[in-house]
Amino acid sequence: MTRGFEQSPEEEAPSERVVVYCGFLRETEVETFAEVIGGIAGRIACLECGGSGVWDFGYDGPQVCVSCKGTGKQYVSI
Ligand SMILES: [Zn+2]
Repeated sequence: MTRGFEQSPEEEAPSERVVVYCGFLRETEVETFAEVIGGIAGRIACLECGGSGVWDFGYDGPQVCVSCKGTGKQYVSI
């Protein structure tokens, strides 16, 4: 993984290792760490921008990441 995508479990506790199924047909598996928010809610580093909140892969220069709206985090069910 690149661009700070991996989070170590020591950074934000409690966290647990999860597999996120993403893509239109959920055909892509991504293994990462989820910060346990409570119940079945978990928070992971954004899969699109790697947790930076900045989308910098297009021709228009750096922009706010649409997926996480610049927060660098996404919610998942665990
Ligand atoms: Zn993002």
